[in-house]
Amino acid sequence: MNVYIIVDIGGTQIRVGIYPEEGLEPLRLEKIATQGEGKPLDRLIKLVAQTFPSEHTVRSMVVAAPGAIDPHRGIMVSAPNIPGFVNLPLRKVLVDQFNVPVSINNDANMAAMGEWCFGAGQGHHNLIYMTISTGIGGGVIIDDRLLVGERSLATEMGHITVLPDGPRCGCGQRGHLESISSGTGIANYFAEQVALGVPSVLSSAPNPSTREIAEAAKEGDALSIQAIRRGATFLGVAIADYLHLFNPSIVILGGGVTKSGPLFWDTLKENLAKHLCSQEYLAGFDIKPAALGDEVGLLGALGLARMQYHTNHLILS
Ligand SMILES: [Zn+2]
Repeated sequence: MNVYIIVDIGGTQIRVGIYPEEGLEPLRLEKIATQGEGKPLDRLIKLVAQTFPSEHTVRSMVVAAPGAIDPHRGIMVSAPNIPGFVNLPLRKVLVDQFNVPVSINNDANMAAMGEWCFGAGQGHHNLIYMTISTGIGGGVIIDDRLLVGERSLATEMGHITVLPDGPRCGCGQRGHLESISSGTGIANYFAEQVALGVPSVLSSAPNPSTREIAEAAKEGDALSIQAIRRGATFLGVAIADYLHLFNPSIVILGGGVTKSGPLFWDTLKENLAKHLCSQEYLAGFDIKPAALGDEVGLLGALGLARMQYHTNHLILS
């Protein structure tokens, strides 16, 4: 049988799946904590070796990895949460070790691929995927191609400036979308307001999460409503800008913050429409929640693996 080896490297766990030519059910799926005994790279190699399907023909291995990835050169440039993954020539390491074609790709781009190939974006040719979680990431498919950029640094959807001199972002800059509309951004704003004396039913709770704030908002807590609305407003403004740039037929949103209910979605859509230069962008346009769960990166890498094998039309090698 012809199979693909799909690897998903996360901050907490590494997963390796063996997938056939058709269907989404893995023949085998193994996982291991990213950090533990031994270096993360050694743990990764050991897991792939244990899972390696010697009885089958391996067409390729596709890896989804966090942080800055250079898919052209097969290098993990930096992965902030994984020690030792700095300027790591992972493709060469894996090719030398397993002697199969290997492709290394950014996990947010693979999530976009997952929703495009198998999720909410099926059948679309122009698609934006964003994950609104502790941070904000995303990927863009334009004219049936994954947008990667000159140094593979394109589509950092969370790091556009929406409020000059605003809150400090995870990247160190100020006022980026991520610093305001991510789960962290919403929770930080809420904590700031409580510290200023704004009343809330959650004011006695130590550092409430965005999920708790969203729940309190549903119960009518004014500060919680304001915090969710603020995050969704800036997100709507940013997505209007993405529509101007990319003119997609669909925007797909994943991540915990998108489960904040109608207040979040209605505010987002209202502000998206309000900031467009033309309502033409909304003709035939859809914005909806992601359809896939935490397997989205694995499935995206699988979609890429099959596409690379059958068409070779993506520039990633
Ligand atoms: Zn930033």
